[in-house]
Amino acid sequence: MSRRSTYGIIGSVRPAHPTDELARLLGRPAVLRAGRDDTARYTTPARGPAGAAVDVVRPASTEEVREVVRWAREHRIRLLPQGANSGLVGASTPPGDAGDRLVVLSTDRLRDGLRVDEVDRTALVPAGIRLSELNRAAAEVGLWFPIDLGADPSLGGMVATDTGGARMLRHGDVRRNTLGLEVVLADDGVSVVDTLRVHRKQNEGLDPTALFVGSSGALGVITRVAVDLSVRPAETLAAWIPLDDPHDAVRLLGHLERRLDPLLSAFEVVSAAARRAAAVVGPTLPLRPAPWAVLVEVAGPEGAGDLLVAAAADAPVPTDDALVLPAASAWRVRHAVTEGLARTGTVVGHDVAVPRADLADLVTSAAAQVTATWPDATVADFGHWGDGGVHLNVVFPPGATVDDALVEAVHDIVFTLAVDRHGGTFSAEHGVGPANASWWLRSASPATFELVSALRRTCDPLGVLGHPGLPGPLSA
Ligand SMILES: Cc1cc2nc3c(=O)[nH]c(=O)nc-3n(C[C@H](O)[C@H](O)[C@H](O)COP(=O)(O)OP(=O)(O)OC[C@H]3O[C@@H](n4cnc5c(N)ncnc54)[C@H](O)[C@@H]3O)c2cc1C
Repeated sequence: MSRRSTYGIIGSVRPAHPTDELARLLGRPAVLRAGRDDTARYTTPARGPAGAAVDVVRPASTEEVREVVRWAREHRIRLLPQGANSGLVGASTPPGDAGDRLVVLSTDRLRDGLRVDEVDRTALVPAGIRLSELNRAAAEVGLWFPIDLGADPSLGGMVATDTGGARMLRHGDVRRNTLGLEVVLADDGVSVVDTLRVHRKQNEGLDPTALFVGSSGALGVITRVAVDLSVRPAETLAAWIPLDDPHDAVRLLGHLERRLDPLLSAFEVVSAAARRAAAVVGPTLPLRPAPWAVLVEVAGPEGAGDLLVAAAADAPVPTDDALVLPAASAWRVRHAVTEGLARTGTVVGHDVAVPRADLADLVTSAAAQVTATWPDATVADFGHWGDGGVHLNVVFPPGATVDDALVEAVHDIVFTLAVDRHGGTFSAEHGVGPANASWWLRSASPATFELVSALRRTCDPLGVLGHPGLPGPLSA
């Protein structure tokens, strides 16, 4: 006689592995077992050390996601939702000590039912579809999803992190371009919240859609997304403009906005250190060496490029040595920065935003404080100055010991400057994860803290969803 345990049979028969039940329910391809199958891409983040090897479950439909969540609730196993695993705050990869009480719930098989509506200029997108795939489908009818970044995330992950990207100045973030969602909760009924709609006008009172944008996988599993698409511009042109003084960048931004509105689509500032890193992996430009350079882009009807050239010519800052070039070539350099930095040394990253008038002071005072404290470190800042955002990366040379205490000390300098001195944010666009959880706790007001705790209790009362290293009210 044998007795059933949580996972199998106690007695003469060997206990089953926790996820065997899921393989039975969903079929063998839906489950990857750590140690038996190749799970490395689910446990290796875009930045930072690999997480623990854990099992991965890959449901292929909303109903299968519900099965997985029911199973997790029953066995009190934590599910870590994961899209393309390109997140930069440590929230998508298992922690090193995850053990077998955590399973990655990958959305990479949630792919059926992508639909682009040319007339409404909208799309209905399964959460596992990548940004590049959505854009390929939209391009067939002259449209695109105008969130642009150097990675290829899933749509579900983009919603969960509220991705910003390089063209936020013109098109806004994911929040602004999301029309509705389908989300599986981990509440007692494993309910499905469905606000999917493909029309823009709907004002029926409170709308829960926005609650899940930026929810870091802690309030529900996003299974489908309805998005607003934009018309592909007929002409896009970019210029790289070297600058000696970062304050000139903000003056140039104001001038270009006034002259080019609404055609200005990106305004990026890249330090010399970040451009040197990009050159390690990408193409180089014949640009005058200068401590900073601006990448500016216009997009619009035929003739938009001429307007950029004219606006740059009468700018209030020197632009004589600007390099005007096709947008794709200009962006290749910019998009090579992240990978280049990772090859250059150990990167302690920060994704901060402050009022635009303060950006120049922020980057110069951060560089001064960092190099005074760690003379072998380099500050390689770059980012979306048009939105007030900057990726303030501190790079330590290869071989340097960069332990948790050092990372915290670097964070302390940069976040204190951005948040306390300049009234900005510790997370401009990368969302919230273990990498910045302590700053969320420091920044959230008691009322926000309480509201988030209440939402979490409602959507996931047993606490089975999300990364255990998220800030307390999101992970409890
Ligand atoms: C080279 C590079 C450049 C980048 N540039 C930018 C940039 O310019 N702007 C920017 O904003 N970000 C940028 N990122 C960060 C990253 O690409 C975004 O945060 C992206 O939106 C994450 O999507 P993902 O599918 O990879 O999600 P993942 O990394 O897999 O997950 C991120 C978070 O979302 C949760 N999640 C994922 N899918 C779901 C789901 N279906 N339901 C519920 N929760 C879910 C996870 O639990 C985790 O908390 C960059 C990353 C890289 C590597």
